[in-house]
Amino acid sequence: MLDLALTPDQEQLVETVRDFCSREFAPRIAADDRAVRHDPEIFAKLASIGLPGVCFPQRYGGHGLDYLSLGLVCEELEYVDTVYRTVLSVHVGLVGCGIYTWGTEEQKQRWLGPMARGEKLACFGLTEPNAGSDVASMQATAKRSGGSYLLSGQKVWVSDADTADFMLIFAKTDPKAGARGVSAFMVDRAASGKALRTEPIEGRLGIHAGDVGSIFMTDLEVDEADRIGDEGDGFKVAMGCLDNGRYTIDTRTSARRSGRRSGATSSCSR
Ligand SMILES: Cc1cc2nc3c(=O)[nH]c(=O)nc-3n(C[C@H](O)[C@H](O)[C@H](O)COP(=O)(O)OP(=O)(O)OC[C@H]3O[C@@H](n4cnc5c(N)ncnc54)[C@H](O)[C@@H]3O)c2cc1C
Repeated sequence: MLDLALTPDQEQLVETVRDFCSREFAPRIAADDRAVRHDPEIFAKLASIGLPGVCFPQRYGGHGLDYLSLGLVCEELEYVDTVYRTVLSVHVGLVGCGIYTWGTEEQKQRWLGPMARGEKLACFGLTEPNAGSDVASMQATAKRSGGSYLLSGQKVWVSDADTADFMLIFAKTDPKAGARGVSAFMVDRAASGKALRTEPIEGRLGIHAGDVGSIFMTDLEVDEADRIGDEGDGFKVAMGCLDNGRYTIDTRTSARRSGRRSGATSSCSR
């Protein structure tokens, strides 16, 4: 018979995160929501108990727990408020698992390591003002320039756009090739200067205590070494990232509170 019980380590993880959330997040979320105030320390707080590295191998700065542990952690964060779960969903599910799956060894050390250790917060720049569900219709471009690319365009509705250090950005390297013309790039805000600008989306109808914003790029130079996957792999990369992101959002996949479990045990999907 299938054993659906949590392991002692998973039980302990849930207790630790639940206790932490009840002390650090629950007492302030109502006031932050009413005041439309984003706590810039959320990521640092999550990092203080090691959550950014929850399911990544220790060689990349993580804690080597399983994929189900990521779902359990997200469930506890979501229980307090979507704002907290979103930070981890995007950082680990969308971006971290994407680099773990698609990145080279060098890219994992350069990008995933600082993310898993909780030193750098990452966001995911896919959606555009005229390209939401229909990802392939994106208009942002990445033009070759020697050993680099110049990224131009706008991303919108990006969680943590204003607070993230790292960004996984999707742009067209071949605008005529539809989904096959999309490529993925890691961007370091600290190295981007005025070619990169972010701003929050004001007057949102929900997630008032969250950071949701836009990214503006004008000839933002990104080294070829920071392209994730091959040229034209971006659509596949994005869809793979979204698979992991959805797992962290749809807590029914790990829904211990409702008594159902996914039984997933591996690290991020490959
Ligand atoms: C709080 C929040 C956080 C977000 N965070 C991020 C993030 O971190 N990074 C990021 O890149 N994006 C993010 N997004 C954007 C999100 O991924 C998009 O909103 C989503 O992809 C839908 O795109 P859209 O809003 O343009 O809606 P549209 O694509 O315009 O869809 C509008 C409606 O039309 C329906 N629809 C669309 N196409 C079809 C079709 N062919 N047939 C039938 N119905 C259709 C949709 O189901 C939907 O109901 C976030 C959005 C929100 C609200």
